[in-house]
Amino acid sequence: MAGGTETHESLDMNADTLREECGVFGILGHEDASALTALGLHALQHRGQEAAGIVTYDKDQFRSERHLGLVGDHFSDADTIGRLTGKAAIGHVRYSTTGETILRNVQPLFAELDGGGIAICHNGNFTNALTLRQQLIRDGAICQSTSDSEVVLQLVARSRKGKIVERFIEAITQMEGAYSLVALTAKKLIGARDPLGIRPLVLGDLNGAPILASETCALDIIGAKFIREVENGEVIVCSPTGIQSFFPFGKQPARPCIFEYIYFSRPDSIVGGRSVYDVRREMGKQLARETNVEADVIVPVPDSGVPAAIGYSQESGIPFELGIIRNHYVGRTFIEPTQHIRALGVKMKHSANRSQIEGKRVVLVDDSLVRGTTSVKIVQMIRDAGAREVHFRLASPPIKYSDYYGIDTPVREKLLAAKYSLEEMRAYIGADSLAFLTVDGIYRAMGFDGRDNDNPQFTDHCFTGDYPTPLTDLSEDQDLVSLPRLVEVG
Ligand code: SF4
Repeated sequence: MAGGTETHESLDMNADTLREECGVFGILGHEDASALTALGLHALQHRGQEAAGIVTYDKDQFRSERHLGLVGDHFSDADTIGRLTGKAAIGHVRYSTTGETILRNVQPLFAELDGGGIAICHNGNFTNALTLRQQLIRDGAICQSTSDSEVVLQLVARSRKGKIVERFIEAITQMEGAYSLVALTAKKLIGARDPLGIRPLVLGDLNGAPILASETCALDIIGAKFIREVENGEVIVCSPTGIQSFFPFGKQPARPCIFEYIYFSRPDSIVGGRSVYDVRREMGKQLARETNVEADVIVPVPDSGVPAAIGYSQESGIPFELGIIRNHYVGRTFIEPTQHIRALGVKMKHSANRSQIEGKRVVLVDDSLVRGTTSVKIVQMIRDAGAREVHFRLASPPIKYSDYYGIDTPVREKLLAAKYSLEEMRAYIGADSLAFLTVDGIYRAMGFDGRDNDNPQFTDHCFTGDYPTPLTDLSEDQDLVSLPRLVEVG
């Protein structure tokens, strides 16, 4: 079961990770609303690289710029920002799990409705969007996209409630799954978090202008003050007269996604009152307590493995060294190599730092293992650099179940830990030893005495299979029927 040989463009450490789906940002009452939104989205780019969009409201109409590609590719020129006039804006960066990567799925989506228009953007995934969409289409709805987020817009349009906020609330109380939503109307900026608070959303302030964002790093980049987290199940309404909160779902314990700490959120963000960097380092320390091994050097798999590797080194006392060097200037692959160059095993993005590896017993530390394809190549690269032993350590438990809450996970059959035992996984990646942080260990690293199985403190079903909400759209064969697939087959 030893791993395959490496080729030039394949040794990309990010190729085999879970991908977070999307980041949201909104601001109300600021001269530079669109420029600040572009900066906020830039800080959230790690949450989605496929497309970006900004919608403003000015002079009785929405103004929209939505593009495929990175924020910097489209929102760094003055003309685009110049067209986005108005003192209120919302924005979105996208990584698609439902809905193809086509312009009509790029968010924010917006519609002019009786009683005033609304624009929305969404981080997460609705697990009953398909069922609702089919009903809406049967009732005559005309859908502009194949994105699950549009279902909220359709339900707002159908609501017979008086005020737009009431219509928005009526719409989201019909949704299941995980979501952080930011919406814009003529006068208001609205935010909402699902009843369990699975996806993150924070409130900030910039000189009196309220801001809603997926992570605090989007506040830091523009010098905005962090006010608080938007609570689970809260609908927050910001208007020129102040901020109001509604709790249409009643209060229930929060269960935020634990993977935001493991990989999705930026290390400099504060999530749930915790520094993401500190939590990852603590996960590394707990990993060393649980899985330590005789070795000469701790080497992180860059970049996401760095904080945990530092923690592992601090706890074990084994020196930490940058044994893998990342080339930050790869961008688009510049030359298509000939077979001869490929055979050379050219490493475009990452290469081994031989002086820190040769003749040593190496512990590689990474944040998580999904399919295992990249781990095979990393182990081979470290062996080729002369390592005497290679031990692989993961600062999270084995991923055995697919996610349906906005994370692009492979189908279960492709998850290495769903099909192989620990020993088979070790043999597959070609390491001398392999170990994962335990589920209880990850809760200890978060400051608890372990997982509370009666009332789990976090959403953790990719490790435990304990899905926290109904999965209405789930098909017989345990695969969440995604919108595009059904749309295609009609
Ligand atoms: S499966 Fe659950 S814990 Fe894992 S990434 Fe998804 S929401 Fe987070």
